[in-house]
Amino acid sequence: MKKVDYIIVGCGLASIAFCEQLRQHKKSFIVFDDRSQQSSLVAGGMYNPVILKRFSEVWKAKEQLDIAIPLYQSIEQELNIKVDYKFQLLRRFTSVEEQNLWFSASDKPNLEPFLSTKLIKNENSFIVAPLGFGEVLHAGRLDTITLISEYKKFLKSSESLREEHFVYDDLVTYNDSVTYKDIDSSYIVFAEGFGVKQNPFFRDIPLNGTKGEVLTIKAPALKVDYAVKSSVFIIPIGNDLYKVGATYNWEDKTNTPTNSGREELLTKLNTFLKCNYEVVDHVAGIRPTVKDRRPLVGAHSKFKNLFVLNGLGTRGVMIAPYVAERLFQFIEEKIALDKEIDVNRFNY
Ligand SMILES: Cc1cc2nc3c(=O)[nH]c(=O)nc-3n(C[C@H](O)[C@H](O)[C@H](O)COP(=O)(O)OP(=O)(O)OC[C@H]3O[C@@H](n4cnc5c(N)ncnc54)[C@H](O)[C@@H]3O)c2cc1C
Repeated sequence: MKKVDYIIVGCGLASIAFCEQLRQHKKSFIVFDDRSQQSSLVAGGMYNPVILKRFSEVWKAKEQLDIAIPLYQSIEQELNIKVDYKFQLLRRFTSVEEQNLWFSASDKPNLEPFLSTKLIKNENSFIVAPLGFGEVLHAGRLDTITLISEYKKFLKSSESLREEHFVYDDLVTYNDSVTYKDIDSSYIVFAEGFGVKQNPFFRDIPLNGTKGEVLTIKAPALKVDYAVKSSVFIIPIGNDLYKVGATYNWEDKTNTPTNSGREELLTKLNTFLKCNYEVVDHVAGIRPTVKDRRPLVGAHSKFKNLFVLNGLGTRGVMIAPYVAERLFQFIEEKIALDKEIDVNRFNY
């Protein structure tokens, strides 16, 4: 039997953030991933402390950024990669009322660090924005594809990754440990995103799942290095490529890109982008969303060595490091979880 402190199921943003907690505290672990879900891989990767529909602060935005940015920077150093790209994020105004709302929001103490009070004029002839933009500060993009593929290589190099489906029926639970095939572990953390619906221990947690689709376009004439948020976002990713997203679909639970998703994105894009472009990629995934928009973290109600780290919703980049730290402190230091994020706020 191989003895470890933790088994982790899943290798998306939630899992990687938790692995980093384990590495910092010198805990041993093995990760399982079967590539069945791809929310983290298809994500726009944007981090942004402001809800741009309502001009309000993201839940615990400052606390999340204070943990997330140093964490991604430390992974960059350890793995010798670049994944964190800061950029200017511009919210396109569509009415004078919106401009006014922006400036009154930027006066509020909690939003003042994140919203610039300068009205930015549009200087790009391919973008239609007669009322200009508001600038969000402290925003950027995490290159999740590079992060996940490099992190997997890193785990493989220490034999800490098994690229296979985790078979729930083969898990055996004891009072103070679990076994899975040839592994004996003190704890197991399930971080399967929407895949948790197949997990007999946690499948009834109230995770809805919201499908999202994203396009990549090539627009050589556009030449912008800032992100634009309007009815869709445009995120520059280099080499004249831009991500355009995203859709929200609460019915379809597949990872398959659709024609209707593509049409919806292009129709919205064409209202404010007026240059030639070509669609070069189209992907889809299921966001692990929760009705009350808070993560689902904590212990199984009956099996005390089984934990869940899920419900990252639409903002996994910022929230994953924060909830991973909370879960680690809950397990190892017995620090109670806030009711707001505790999975046991629900009966499941
Ligand atoms: C279109 C779209 C755009 C998005 N844009 C953004 C954005 O710009 N910014 C942002 O912050 N967030 C964004 N998100 C949300 C973000 O992607 C999620 O919050 C986050 O990635 C969820 O991470 P996760 O690790 O919980 O789940 P996942 O990324 O789904 O990872 C779960 C992993 O578990 C594995 N797994 C599942 N079951 C098993 C099993 N039985 N055995 C082995 N492995 C298993 C899966 O294969 C997968 O690798 C977007 C999401 C979508 C779909």
